[in-house]
This record gives sequence, C-alpha cells and structure tokens, in this order.
Amino acid sequence: MLQVLPVTAPDKADCLLVGVDDKRKAPGLKAFGIQNDAAAAALADANVPLAFKAVRSFPHGKGWLLLVGLGDPKKLTQEKIGTLANLGARAAGALGCKVAATSLVLDTWKDAAATQAVTQGALIGALDFDQWKSKKPETAADPTAAKKDPDAGKLQTLQVLLPAGAAGTAARKAVERALLAAEAVNDSRLLSNTPANVATPAWMAEQAKARGTKHGFAVAVKGRAELRREGFGALCGVAQGSLNEEKLVTMDYHPKGAKKTLVVVGKGVCFDSGGISLKPGDKMWEMKYDKIGACNTIALMGVLKRLGVKHRVVGITPLVENLPSGAAQRPGDIVTAKDGTTIEVLNTDAEGRLILADAMAHARTFEPDWIIDMATLTGACEVAVGPTHVAIMGNQDKFAQQLVADSRAAGDKGWHLPQGEEFDEANKGAYADLQNISLTNRAGSSIGGSFIKHFAKDTKWAHLDIASKAWTAGVDYFAKGPTAAGLRIVLQRILEE
Ligand SMILES: [Zn+2]
Repeated sequence: MLQVLPVTAPDKADCLLVGVDDKRKAPGLKAFGIQNDAAAAALADANVPLAFKAVRSFPHGKGWLLLVGLGDPKKLTQEKIGTLANLGARAAGALGCKVAATSLVLDTWKDAAATQAVTQGALIGALDFDQWKSKKPETAADPTAAKKDPDAGKLQTLQVLLPAGAAGTAARKAVERALLAAEAVNDSRLLSNTPANVATPAWMAEQAKARGTKHGFAVAVKGRAELRREGFGALCGVAQGSLNEEKLVTMDYHPKGAKKTLVVVGKGVCFDSGGISLKPGDKMWEMKYDKIGACNTIALMGVLKRLGVKHRVVGITPLVENLPSGAAQRPGDIVTAKDGTTIEVLNTDAEGRLILADAMAHARTFEPDWIIDMATLTGACEVAVGPTHVAIMGNQDKFAQQLVADSRAAGDKGWHLPQGEEFDEANKGAYADLQNISLTNRAGSSIGGSFIKHFAKDTKWAHLDIASKAWTAGVDYFAKGPTAAGLRIVLQRILEE
C-alpha cells in the first residue's frame, strides 16, 4: 500500500514529480535543484503537449523525472490537485519506481489545502478493487512476478515536499489529518464493494464491532426479534421478505468530558432489488452499493479517536436487505414507524426513507446537537447534481450551507438543495400520515429529504443524498466503483465543531 510522507527534501527518491502550468513554467525544477536538458527542451517546445493531466517522463540520473500538466493554476481545485497526484504516482509506479518525491504542493497553492489534496488524491487514487481477483492485474501476465514482488508496478512511497515556516507546519498537520481521512474513505470503499452474498446485515454488524474493539468505540446491535418487539415497524417492514435478518447498529464514541453529542446515520441496504416493486435487471448488480451510507458511517467511526475528536459521536446504521418473497412487504401496506407515524408503502423500492425513519427516531433518543444522515436515497439526485456533487439539504438552511462550505474544504464537493412546505405536502398520505413516494415526478431528492425531515422533528438535521456520487465510472482520482461520497464532508463538520 502506498505511503505518503511529508518531507523538506527528497530522500533516495527514484522519481521526481513536478507540475507544469499552462505557461509551461515548472518552478518545481528549481525547488529540486534539477538540471535536465530533455525536460527543458520539452518545456521550450510548444508542440509537446503539457496540458492539464498530461504526464511526460524523462530519464534523470538513475531514475525518472515526470512533468505533470497543471492547466490554468487559477482553475485548480482540491479534486484536480488530487487527480494530478494520483496520475503522477501511478505513472511513477508503471515506470518501476518505488519512491517518488513531488513538488505539487509548492507548484500549486503552497498550503495545507494543497497538501490535503495531494495526500488524499495519492492515497484514495491508489486503491484498486482487486481484492476479489485470484491474481492481481499487474502480475496476471507473469504468474512468477507476484512471488517476486506482490506490489510490482506500484509506487511504495510518495514524499511530499512542503513549504518552509508556518505554512509548512500547517501543511504537516494537514498530512496527518488527510492520512486518516483517506484511510476512512478507502475502508468505506472496500466495505461498499463487498458483494451482498458476503456483506449481509450480520456481516456489516461484525465489521462495526471489529472496528469498535480496535478503535475505541462501543457497539450495540439489535436484531429482528428485538426490533419488532420495540416497534421499529418501518425498518422491519422493509426486511420482512429477507432470510438475512435486519440489524440496527449503534456505535458510540464517547470521550471523557465530551460536551456535544453528534449523531451520524447511514443508510444500509445491503442489497436493494426494489422488493415487490422489483427493479429492472439492467444494472441491478450495482445495488450492493445501496449500503454506502452505512459503510461511510462505520469507517468514519474508526478514525475519530486517532483524530482526537472531543465530542461524543454516535453512528447509527439500519441494515437490511430489500428482497421479494412470499413474506415481503406489499405496495399499499401501512406500517407504523418507531415514533408512531403511520406510513403507506406505495412503492417498496423507496425503502431507504423507511429504514431511515426509524433510525432517526432512535437517533433522537441521544438528544444530539445535530443529526446528519448519509444515504443513496434518490435516483433523482443523478439528474439534479450528477456524479461530481453530493446533494445537501436540511431543516435549517444555515446548517446546510455550512456543510456546503465543509464539502469544499474537505475536497468532496456538495451543493445545497431546497427544503420547504411544498415538498412536505408531497409526502402526505391518503390513508396514512405519510406515503413513501410522491405522486409527482418533480424534485424527487428534496421530497425524499423532506420525508426524513419529518422524523428529525425539532432536532437540527442535515441530509446528504449521495446517490449520484457514491459510485462512479472513474471521476477525478477514483477507480471505477464506490467513492465514499459524503464521508469527508461529515468528518470535516465533526472536526470543525
Ligand atoms: Zn430502493
């Protein structure tokens, strides 16, 4: 696995990674004290492409010099800087290098934010989902190569050159934080990518327990019988057609002297077939990803102690499978949620809001300062914000806007969608208090959010609809697959409290 180290000078690096801006300037060459005629000639020759994301390699000493195109420095973002770090690290690995040093922080913003972007881009970008392959892709062609070097073709260490003085001190702190944020993101991604024949609700609960033991938080798990007895009717209704029983996991990180209580809720539908309102077969395999909110929550809990978080943080994940069977919930069924609200289930595929309804009631028993939920909730989110943004909404606009700012700082962009009475209206039921889909095809993400808002009551609450960004076909530095979208936004908020 790739290691990122903050340095003030490269140490035994066999590759130097330097950014080039759109004016073909590469100040990093000076920072490294490099004289390389081939690179100088390429910089001087306008016919050599060095645009954003271009990577060119030049032999240098016993190793390599890589020039990476930054594009217009004014247009850089966390995501773009991270993408360049990933591209450079991968190119260095492909050249057989083991230790690279990069001036990307100095080439860009020269601060803690750039350091965070480089660290996260390199580490998150390094994860390939090859844990289920019997042979690793790099070594599949040569079966003996894996024995000689299981990490053949991969960079082992990225040394990040930091600025001197106060900016350097802040940047060094940013590395420590970004290492843990990236660890949580990758942990969530590996959990998310685990298929539903392994990742059942019970397996997910075991994963939470294992992290609790290792990383200092308590874990309590309620099963089917207990949940039914205690009146979690909306949650149990979704799971009633499945042989793999539902679980409600509560993770409690409670440091001494904590003043605030913050609750994070993550939707955990381990597989969503749609239930009796069955989804079409095309892409149904992606529905193992309907548990990403829960994976984010479990992974997030694992880094709080090491980040020195001073608040009590409670993570709650309702875990179910949504499957059709003779015992499954039917469209038209009316269930009673934990807080007494009755809900008519017009479509069994709108199950996320049902399990979240009961998770929210449970969350409120902790009398938290706020609740944030993360959920792959609505297909409408794809239309509203697409694969680059998380949709953020809440029962206080100021709080939602604060989270939008957090999303920028965290390098996990989000955008604010509205809440209001007009959306509440769409959730009112004909025969029950609420219905789980609206009969309009407009504003699906806001209406889905409004359904959850009902269960937040007067507790400060925000909802991250991560449905469009939680898995991608390779946006920014993410390999195709789950992205843990939303995790870093919530982590940023916890650290800012
Ligand atoms: Zn569904």
